[in-house]
Amino acid sequence: MKVLESLLHRIEDLGGRVRRDGRLIDIHAGLANAASIRPYLYHLLNHFERDYFISISNMAACVMPDAWDHFRQTRVRAHPDRRCASCRYAEACAGPATGQTPVPFKDAPREVAIEVTTACNLACGICFQARDGREHLPWRVLLETFKQMRHAGLRHVRFTGGEPLLYPHLEKAVLTAKKLGFQVLLNTNAALFSESKIRFFGRYADSILVSMRGCDFSSESRLTGVRADFRDKLRRIRLLASQCRHVRIGTVVSRHLIHHLEDYLCILRSTRISHWELYRPIVASSQEDYRLTRGDFIKLIRRLKRYRGSLSIKVANPVPFCLAGDSASTCHLFLGGLWDDGHTRLVLDAGGFYKPSYAMKQDLGADLLKAWRHPLMRRLRSLEYLPLRCRRCFYAGWCKGGSRQWALDSGGSLWASDPWMSHE
Ligand code: SF4
Ligand code: SF4
Repeated sequence: MKVLESLLHRIEDLGGRVRRDGRLIDIHAGLANAASIRPYLYHLLNHFERDYFISISNMAACVMPDAWDHFRQTRVRAHPDRRCASCRYAEACAGPATGQTPVPFKDAPREVAIEVTTACNLACGICFQARDGREHLPWRVLLETFKQMRHAGLRHVRFTGGEPLLYPHLEKAVLTAKKLGFQVLLNTNAALFSESKIRFFGRYADSILVSMRGCDFSSESRLTGVRADFRDKLRRIRLLASQCRHVRIGTVVSRHLIHHLEDYLCILRSTRISHWELYRPIVASSQEDYRLTRGDFIKLIRRLKRYRGSLSIKVANPVPFCLAGDSASTCHLFLGGLWDDGHTRLVLDAGGFYKPSYAMKQDLGADLLKAWRHPLMRRLRSLEYLPLRCRRCFYAGWCKGGSRQWALDSGGSLWASDPWMSHE
């Protein structure tokens, strides 16, 4: 804690203003010189973002482009610097500091998640791909997607499914993506990894996200619909963690997880994985375990709030930050809607068309930039449909008012309120 206190004092000495409230650290750059304060802000993020929600404002995000997701975008009076005209954040940025050369953010997604196949070796009740038949993305569509991504200046491609290891061209796709200079991310259930495949992906994938539904043989089998050796899965995860730069575990929250949180934490400790992502399930799951109420999720958040271990735990898809009433004491647990609902990512369906997210099936066509600029995507990103309370909320830039899919499935409209918003 002494390190944190002295870092925050240093930021204040340089002219920044620091507000602390529970797990929120809100930095207003104030009169600080961006170049002087930047190393301290990076230090703060690198060491404390696991345990705190860190927000930065009154400074141009392009000073710290890889920390863009910490910048609080507030509507300001448009600044006159013409070099910023093409920047995605031009309307919400105070502009470059004196002497700073602005580096505009492209108005394009940060990542394309490519569903290379709908085929899967498991049968999870929570799957977005529950549809008839198996469909592989044609190779020529994949190449065309890479071409469009290069043209739009994108750097990250995610291979997902179904189970992407069932895609016959996956290794060729990964090698082509690397040759084109992309960072490669892979979502997998890890069941099909042989030792040679682990070596291959350990060498070429920059980040691997492994899904884990249960915490033992019986729960993993029940939640995936397939009986498989759980100890073998853990062995593969450990091997991956030893050979790949960045491996995370992702778990869709089930009632079983809420009741057996300690068992999950114990298993995760044994894998040497440092990041655990949790996901709010879709509304219409075919499995009772995933039909969660707001009260169930609040119970989980209150338990996680007390967690003091070394694992980084984040709910990575949209959940209202105000769910449990006291946003300041639980905000560090949420990534919010940043990576969903069309805010930063496009998903390429195995049918060859772009869509706003894994769960949202709206066909946005086959042209990447046209899909990104589609009126539906613009409206999703505008947040203009949110109730006044959300639009005035400090966390709105991250929370995005919760999930559009939940709004649709339970309120009948994409533009309705998320039913898990706090009622206080
Ligand atoms: S390019 Fe301009 S508008 Fe964009 S973040 Fe930098 S200073 Fe702000
Ligand atoms: S943006 Fe809306 S849903 Fe999210 S925390 Fe604020 S008030 Fe709650």
